[in-house]
Amino acid sequence: MQYISTRGQMAPQHFSDVLLEGLAPDGGLAVPQTLPKIDAQTLTAWRELTYPQLALEILSLFVTDIDRQTLSAMIDRAYAADKFRSESIVSVRPLGDEAYLLGVSEGPTLAFKDMAMQFLGEAFGHVLTQRQTTLNILGATSGDTGSAAEYAMRQHKQVSVFMLSPKGRMSAFQRAQMYSLQDDNIHNIAVEGDFDQAQEIVKSLASDLDFKQKYRIGAVNSINWARIAAQIVYYFWGWLRTTETNDQKVSFAVPSGNFGNILAGHYARQMGLPVARLVLATNENNVLEEFFQTGIYRPRLPIDTHVTSSPSMDISKASNFERFVYDLVGQDPERVASLWQALSKDGSFDLSEYLPAFESQYGFVAGSSSHGDRVATIRRVFDEYGVLIDPHTADGVKVAQAFAQPGIPMLVLETALPAKFAETIEEAIGRTPPMPVGLEDLEIRPQNVVEMSCDASAVRAFVEANANL
Ligand SMILES: *Cc1c(COP(=O)(O)O)cnc(C)c1O
Repeated sequence: MQYISTRGQMAPQHFSDVLLEGLAPDGGLAVPQTLPKIDAQTLTAWRELTYPQLALEILSLFVTDIDRQTLSAMIDRAYAADKFRSESIVSVRPLGDEAYLLGVSEGPTLAFKDMAMQFLGEAFGHVLTQRQTTLNILGATSGDTGSAAEYAMRQHKQVSVFMLSPKGRMSAFQRAQMYSLQDDNIHNIAVEGDFDQAQEIVKSLASDLDFKQKYRIGAVNSINWARIAAQIVYYFWGWLRTTETNDQKVSFAVPSGNFGNILAGHYARQMGLPVARLVLATNENNVLEEFFQTGIYRPRLPIDTHVTSSPSMDISKASNFERFVYDLVGQDPERVASLWQALSKDGSFDLSEYLPAFESQYGFVAGSSSHGDRVATIRRVFDEYGVLIDPHTADGVKVAQAFAQPGIPMLVLETALPAKFAETIEEAIGRTPPMPVGLEDLEIRPQNVVEMSCDASAVRAFVEANANL
C-alpha cells in the first residue's frame, strides 16, 4: 500500500513517511493509491474478533511497512483494556428503538479523538525509535485534540508536546485534564488570547523552516492519515455489533467539524462495508451542511465562526474535506488542484453538478442543530431512556431523526462524554453530570502549566529551551 497526494504531485510513499509529514509537498493530502476491498467472507470472519484484533486486520491493510507482529503489539498497547472505560473498547448501547450510541469516547480523555491518537502515539513511537530521532509536537487546542494528544504521547519519550491553550477559555474539566499531567515531555502553555490567536502563533513558528528543522517541530493535525486509518476500524465494529448477516445495512450519524471522523466512515463504505446513509451533523457552523445541500463549498472566516455549546465542531473550514472531493471528482488530481486554486481566489467552489451523487453514490445526507435543539435533545434522551449524552452527541441524535429508515439501525457516534460539558448538561437537566469513576478528584489535582503573553517569540524561546533533541 502506497500513498499519493490529492493534487497529484507527490511520488508514492509508504505509511511511515506520510505519518511524519503534514500536507503533501504540493499542498494536497495523502490518500491510498487504491483502497482495499473487503469481501463478504472476510466480513463474516471478522464477527468473531475483539476490537484490537479487528484493528489489526484493518490497519495491516494500510500499514504495510511495519511487520505484522510489531503492528499487533502497537495496537494491543493503543487499545489496552485498562485505558478504556468499556471492556470492549468501543461500546454499543441502544436508545430505545430510535438508535444506537456507538461509544467511541471510552478512552482516557473521554472523547473520540483518543481512538485515533492512541494509535498515532504508538506509530510515532515506533517510527521515531527506528529512525533514532525525536519529535517536538507544537499545537494549539480549544479542548479535545490537545488533551487526546498529550494522553497519547506521554508514554512515548521520543516525543515532546508543546500545547498552547487559550487562557481561561476552556472548561474547568478540560483544563484539569490537560494541566494535571506531570510528565516531563508534556508542556502546557496557556496564552493570553483566544484559540485563533494561539493557532496563529503555532502557524507562524511552523512556517519558519529553520526553526522547524532545528527543533524537529511536528504536528498531530486531524489531516494525519494514521488518524483517519485508525478511525475506519470503529465503523466496521459498529456494523459487526448491530447486524447478524451481511445483507443488513446500518446508517451512521456523525457530529462533524473538520470532516475527519465521517471521512473514515466514507472509506469504510467504499471498502465494502454495508452502509446505507452517512448522516453528517453540524452545529451552527454549517459549512458542510451547506455543501451537502447545495454543492457549494464556502469556508467562513474565523470571525464568522460561532462559539457554540458543541465547541469541538466550531470550524470555519473542514481540513479533511479535500480527500472526499478527490473521490467525488473521480480521483482527478488536476481537478482538485484547480478547485483549491479557485477557493483561494474566490472563497468558494461549486460542485452542484455532483449533487445527485452525494446520496445515491456515497450515502451522504446532512443537517444541523441549534443550541436549543441540543439542549432539548439532551433532556429528551435523558427523560425517555435515562441516558445522558453530551452536546456533540446530541447534535448527532437530533440530525439523525430526520434520516432514519425503517429496518436500518442508526448508529450515532458518541463523540464525547457529558462530564466534559457540565454547563450545557446543567442547562438541559438541571444538574451537573456525574464525574466518571476514577476522575472524581481531577479538578483538585496539582496543575502543570506555564502562562505566557500572546507572543510568538516567548513561545519560541520556551520551545528552544525545552525541546527534546
Ligand atoms: C473533534 C470532535 C468532533 C468533530 O470531529 P471531526 O473529525 O473534526 O469532524 C466532534 N465532536 C467532538 C466531541 C470532537 O472532539
